[in-house]
Amino acid sequence: MKNKKFKGISTTTLHTANKENDNFSHTTPIYATSTFTFDSTNEGMERFLGKDKTRIYSRWGNPTFVAAEKTIEALEAHGLTNEKGEPLELKALLHSSGQAAMSTLFLSNLSAGDTLVSHFSLYGGTQELMQKILAEAGIKTILMDVRDLKSLEKTIQENTGIKLIHLETPANPTLQCVDIEAICTLSHKHGIKVSVDNTVATPYLQQPFALGADFVFHSATKFLNGHGSALNGVLLGKDLAFMQAKVWKWHVLLGGNSNAFDSYLLIQGMKTLEIRMDRHCSNAAKVAAFLDKHPAIEKVNYTGLASHPDHAIAKKQMKQHAPLISFELKGGIEAGKKFIDALEVCTRAVSLGTVDTLVSHPASMTHYGIPREERIKYGITDGLIRMSVGIENFEDLESDLTQALAKI
Ligand SMILES: *Cc1c(COP(=O)(O)O)cnc(C)c1O
Repeated sequence: MKNKKFKGISTTTLHTANKENDNFSHTTPIYATSTFTFDSTNEGMERFLGKDKTRIYSRWGNPTFVAAEKTIEALEAHGLTNEKGEPLELKALLHSSGQAAMSTLFLSNLSAGDTLVSHFSLYGGTQELMQKILAEAGIKTILMDVRDLKSLEKTIQENTGIKLIHLETPANPTLQCVDIEAICTLSHKHGIKVSVDNTVATPYLQQPFALGADFVFHSATKFLNGHGSALNGVLLGKDLAFMQAKVWKWHVLLGGNSNAFDSYLLIQGMKTLEIRMDRHCSNAAKVAAFLDKHPAIEKVNYTGLASHPDHAIAKKQMKQHAPLISFELKGGIEAGKKFIDALEVCTRAVSLGTVDTLVSHPASMTHYGIPREERIKYGITDGLIRMSVGIENFEDLESDLTQALAKI
């Protein structure tokens, strides 16, 4: 299937996934099947030998997964060209979760004896995967402040086994941002590949392939799905031969495939990505401004505030500031607990990127598995509260925050 290129993001998310069926269904059918039939042994052999192995066995691929993959490829490649000036072609592989896609990314690029470098502020699950699973497989991880390019270059020169630099920008939950383009230029000079976790920004706000990235990762569970209705992860690459020969093999043999129902929910969710993000982003700017001038609040982390240390990088590489905020109350952890318990509109839950506002406490929830001294060093203090700003009417968020802050 040749995908049309559309001028806008919403047209892309509405019209890319729609052709994976032959029964005139308006929405993408849920192909609830483990296997696919062959009319003859010859046809079976042809499908096995062919390039497209998505109609053989669902661990290898399935038309519903393909429809979601095509949409995400179109989003990450939107408006971009390759070195020859042709539209950029990407390969996306849909996984059962972000963690599954991340496992495929790391294990297909690294083997025992290799080293991975990453910025020290990371999603908790990513850091645990590096330090608990990769470490046992003989893959070393160096966590450092990669915003310091001089010290990154020194690290590269001193460690010959570095094969991959993994970036998460903006990082969850500190909102620290790293300069994707500068790091790609430096890494490529040393023959090192770069992967970018684009979960918090989404392809609507930031396109890492335009800045030189080799791989892009999403927990599609978050803003891409947008409604908190399913888990999915996606790994995209621009080296199509490497994706087909190597990454696909790891994906299929590790068994991290998605399922048709969650893929369907993702496809439906992505249709409103652009209009959701515009509202998420404008609400987040208003919430951050409100929190920033509130007397009970010590500090607000939001890349849209000029006081955020990475404000300039965020502005340079994102179209708008991502709708994730974290903040600390002057009263520390006790005040934080009272505040969270007093909320009446915002939802108390981990995860992010759902249409409603989610509030969580990283130290006791998402980053519980990271040793205390370590997480404090990375900016995840005991009293830090994280807010994924939803698309509610701002007036309701403002009155909820006002009443909850009055109770601490
Ligand atoms: C949630 C998340 C992940 C992990 O994704 P799952 O879908 O939960 O497996 C990875 N990175 C970031 C930034 C996330 O927010």
